[in-house]
Amino acid sequence: MPSAARTTRSRKPAAASQPTVEEKWAAYERALIITAHPDDAEFLAGGTIAKMCDLGWDVRICVATSGDKGTRDPAMRPQELAATREAEQRAAAQVLGLRECIFWGYPDGFLLETPELRGQVVALIRRLKPDVVVSWDGFRPGFNHHDHRAIGRVVRDALYPAAHDPLYFAEQRADGLAAHRTAELLLAGAEDADFHVDIEPWLERKVDAILCHTSQIDGRTRDDMLKRWRDAAKKDRERRKRTGFRFSESFKRIEMRRPPPPAAPPA
Ligand SMILES: [Zn+2]
Repeated sequence: MPSAARTTRSRKPAAASQPTVEEKWAAYERALIITAHPDDAEFLAGGTIAKMCDLGWDVRICVATSGDKGTRDPAMRPQELAATREAEQRAAAQVLGLRECIFWGYPDGFLLETPELRGQVVALIRRLKPDVVVSWDGFRPGFNHHDHRAIGRVVRDALYPAAHDPLYFAEQRADGLAAHRTAELLLAGAEDADFHVDIEPWLERKVDAILCHTSQIDGRTRDDMLKRWRDAAKKDRERRKRTGFRFSESFKRIEMRRPPPPAAPPA
């Protein structure tokens, strides 16, 4: 298994006295993926998630909507599609090595950015205590799906400051949920991505996980998909130069848990 040190790259060099990103990743134990739809995680971050699982982390996914409108077939029944997509997500999670799938079942296309949803995310974070959360960049300008914007904004607002400041959703203490500070947030789909994960060792596993979403891939085969990505990687020299990798997934990385500053020298 490749080490974290050789498979991640951030544009920001670490200060000499602070641990590097790779050293931080080596110490992490838990990650939580929070997406809008079944299949978001595999397309956006399937290689990174497989890598996290192979690092031995406890990785779980929460899918906010049921994806019950993700079809071009007008005869499809939404409930049937929701059940299909839940089964597809479970199969993909098994391929990647995830520990748990959590489905909230909100209606596809109508996810609302409410205090209640923020509280639900805060409770999940306080229960699972992730070191890393992966979600959509809900603040990205330009074209994006409504639910991607909504979940991305709710997750970011839940992580900072609500989940780690105890007076937010203080009633959750009665359920044994204490404040928790997540170390870092990786925003997928960001225009200003600054963190690149080498997924070449996990490329085929990512494709296998995507292929579990049979209802979403329009009959594409494993060979089609791998060929397309390999051909694109050959042509896209600019991306390789920018990320440092042939095959990568890119994120905007936000650090929220920082090590304490070094002690002041004695006077
Ligand atoms: Zn989606």
